[in-house]
Amino acid sequence: MPSYNQQSAVTVLGLGPMGRALAGAFLDAGLRVTVWNRTPGRDKELVARGAVSALTAAEAVAASPLSVLCVVNYDAADTIVRPDAVAAALKGRTLVNLTADTPGRARDTAAWAAEHGIGYLDGAIMTPTPTIGTPHAVFLHSGPEDLYREHSAVLDALGGTHTHLGPDIGRAASYDIALLDLFWTSMAGYAHALAVARAEGITAGELAPFAKGIAAILPAIIDESVADVDQRIFSGDGNPLSSAVSSMSHIVDAAEEHGIDSGVMRAAEGLGRRAMGRGFGASSFLRIIDILDPARADS
Ligand code: NDP
Repeated sequence: MPSYNQQSAVTVLGLGPMGRALAGAFLDAGLRVTVWNRTPGRDKELVARGAVSALTAAEAVAASPLSVLCVVNYDAADTIVRPDAVAAALKGRTLVNLTADTPGRARDTAAWAAEHGIGYLDGAIMTPTPTIGTPHAVFLHSGPEDLYREHSAVLDALGGTHTHLGPDIGRAASYDIALLDLFWTSMAGYAHALAVARAEGITAGELAPFAKGIAAILPAIIDESVADVDQRIFSGDGNPLSSAVSSMSHIVDAAEEHGIDSGVMRAAEGLGRRAMGRGFGASSFLRIIDILDPARADS
């Protein structure tokens, strides 16, 4: 049995694909859900399932002790919650902002919330909409521990795993940025691989089983890199940076023979060559962290 009261109320501001998924999961969990979106009409299905449609954002946040905000970015979030009427309605209540943006914007919003007597938690959603309400959803949260504990039962209704990363309000956004960095640079690499494969007459379908094999190597590499990076060991045993750079130069050569833009691969190869120039040829590839961020190279 869920530990929240089935009559607990929650408001969802923002009904894009993610906001609708969040509101739907709250409804499925039996909560009393109020919804609002800038563009009217996006709540039809939710209302048919029992959600209450608010005419204004102020009316929406007044309906529940907890409001969850999920829109495209913090510029949009600001236009929704910072008007006086909404801020006044939020006073003494809690706002959980699951909108993605930078850690700086999260900290700025927390300062604004504190000035207005609003409890504020920031969060990040690390999985796509179909996972919401299922065990596969992943949520990261940051902000005051007691406030998080107060609302965690309602947030748990969204399914999946919820991790509170500590009181630094920017922490969830920091994880989000780092993890999306990994995701998008990986996707850029995959797009480049598909272009090279296509030029050689290999379809995405033919490459897929082997591409998945490459992706499956990464979890072990991530585990091994923990000591490498956190203790600054950068052991190149088994796969030194010099060998990695040689491998990357083959990819650049093969791609450019086909007239394929190799900017993505050249960027990685260039970082490796600069690290070799600094005498790190025998280190692991991850030594390029110090080339990317020389200011913290000795910290
Ligand atoms: P979008 O990022 O496209 O956000 C759409 C929502 O933002 C709508 O409610 C839209 O309102 C609102 N919006 C946009 N501009 C404004 C504005 N100027 N003023 C007020 N509201 C505005 O789609 P999602 O719902 O998918 O994403 C929401 C958040 O969730 C984003 O931060 C995204 O990064 C994050 N996220 C999404 C995932 C996904 O799988 N979709 C996965 C993980 C995180 P309107 O309908 O009026 O245009």
